[in-house]
Amino acid sequence: MTVDQELPLSVADELLTANETFARNFKLGELSVRPARRVAVLACMDSRILFEHCLGLKPGDAHMIRNAGGIATEDALRSLIVSHHLLDTQEFIIINHTDCGLLKVNEYELRSHLNSKMGAIASEPANFYAFDDLEANVRLQVHRVKSHPWIPKHIPVRGFVYDVKTGRLREVKD
Ligand SMILES: [Zn+2]
Repeated sequence: MTVDQELPLSVADELLTANETFARNFKLGELSVRPARRVAVLACMDSRILFEHCLGLKPGDAHMIRNAGGIATEDALRSLIVSHHLLDTQEFIIINHTDCGLLKVNEYELRSHLNSKMGAIASEPANFYAFDDLEANVRLQVHRVKSHPWIPKHIPVRGFVYDVKTGRLREVKD
């Protein structure tokens, strides 16, 4: 190895460089911790979708809760409860999307694959929440949120499917 051969930067280093530019022009330090639009969004983590852009949201507008699938897991429910009870959001929306990485995944096969690939059996996560039917999955998440005893009944909880080919949201009705 020659002395001028540099190790490739990790993506984290590239992100730190980008952050330096961001922080130089930073003007958001006075925003309230309470979301201005009083809404929380639970959505998939898919990298193609910047939901703030899709929904016309600005910094300070909304809580964004994202996980694989856009699932109302125990932790997502925790965030929604904090969002409403501590930070005063009054409306929730849940978004799944077409071509999701968890769509048509077989939960049992995934677990078996990981067991053999990693040579160890894990009890956590207990569930990957893979699904076959996109709309049914959205309805299930809406139901999980609406039926939680600490989510007040007057909070609207609406479910949507985002189409990754068109950028459009479509509401999933009950
Ligand atoms: Zn997804």
